[in-house]
Amino acid sequence: MIQTYKPDNGLMGPINRFMFFISGFNSREKNDHSTTSEKILDLKTSKGLEALHIDFNLFNMRPIIKNKSVLSMIQIFAQTVLSIKKAKKDYRKEIAQGRNALTQADPAFWAAVKKEAAALGIGIVGFAPVDENVIFVRDHVGNIEGLYPNGIILGMEMDFEKIDKAPEPEAGLEAMKIYSKLGTATNRLTDFIRSHGHRAIACHPLGEAILFPAMAARANMGSLGRNGLFITKEYGPRLRLSMIATTASPLPEKPRKPTEMEEFCKKCGKCVKSCPVGAIREVPLKKGGFDIASCIDSAKCMPYFYEYDGCSICIKACPFHRKGYERIFGNRTQHAASVPSPQRA
Ligand code: SF4
Ligand code: SF4
Repeated sequence: MIQTYKPDNGLMGPINRFMFFISGFNSREKNDHSTTSEKILDLKTSKGLEALHIDFNLFNMRPIIKNKSVLSMIQIFAQTVLSIKKAKKDYRKEIAQGRNALTQADPAFWAAVKKEAAALGIGIVGFAPVDENVIFVRDHVGNIEGLYPNGIILGMEMDFEKIDKAPEPEAGLEAMKIYSKLGTATNRLTDFIRSHGHRAIACHPLGEAILFPAMAARANMGSLGRNGLFITKEYGPRLRLSMIATTASPLPEKPRKPTEMEEFCKKCGKCVKSCPVGAIREVPLKKGGFDIASCIDSAKCMPYFYEYDGCSICIKACPFHRKGYERIFGNRTQHAASVPSPQRA
C-alpha cells in the first residue's frame, strides 16, 4: 500500500540534517580553480544537462529504525560522509595543480587498474571518453565542475537476497551500503591511478558529476533498461555505478555492445507493470538536445522512493536480476556460456 508523502519526516528530518550538515555533506565549498594564470586546464564541462537531485532529508528512515538497523545506518552514513569529503578535497587539489595533458598509458597499466579494482570489490570496469552531453550542470554532492577527458566507469554489485526484499528496509540499506563502499573504492582506485603518474578525479557514486548509466552505455558495459537503470550481463540491474575521469590515454578497447539485452528489454515490460505508482514510462521521453531518454516520471516515483528509502522494486522485478543473463539467453548467444550467472534462485 502506498503511504502518504510527508516532506517533513518528523524526528528523522532533523537527524538526517544533523548527519549531513554536520559533515559538510550539503555545503557548497568554493573551488579554487578559477583565476590562476599559470594553470593549463582544458576540462570537459556540462552543456546544460540538469540532474534530478536526491534530497537526503526526505528519506523516511522509520522502517530502518523499527528494523533495529540504526547502528548499520550510522556506520554507512559515516563512511559515506568520509568518502565524499575525501573526493571533494582531492578534486580541489587536482584542480589547484593545473595542467591536464594526456599521459601515456600502456596495456599493462590498464591491466593493473582492473586488478586493483577487483581487489577493492569493484565487479565491473569499463572505459569511454567523457561525453560533455552527459555531464550535469551542478554536482550538489561533490562540487565537481569539470572532468578530465577519459572515463573509467565502475560498477559494484548489491546483494541479491537483500535487494530481493524490496521495498523492505534491507533493500534500501543495501543500496546505501554499496553507495558507501563504492565511494570509498572509487577514491582508492583514483589514488592508485595518481600513484602511477596520471591525473584523476573521483566521481562519487552519490554525486551528480555525470550521468553514470549513460557513460556505462558508451563503454558497452551492458544496456540501459526501461526502468532507467543500467543492466549488465554479470549483475543485471543490481549494481551501483561511479566513475573516475583521468588523463591516462589511450583507453583500452571497448567490448562488443550487447544488443540482445536491449531487444529483450523492449519486449519485457515487467518493471513497468511492477512499479506500485506507475512511474515507469511505456515510452521514454527524449530530453531535448542531449540524446538521453527519460524512463521515469520522477513526480510519481520520488514520493514512494523516499517513503521506502530507495524502493528498488523495479530492480527486483527485472528478469536480469531474477534469472540472470545466462538463464535468459541460454545458448542463444555466443557470449552466454562465458558469463558467470549472477542468479541465486
Ligand atoms: S524506484 Fe520504485 S517507485 Fe520508482 S520507478 Fe522504481 S519501482 Fe517505481
Ligand atoms: S524488467 Fe524487463 S523491461 Fe524492465 S528493465 Fe528489466 S528487462 Fe527491461
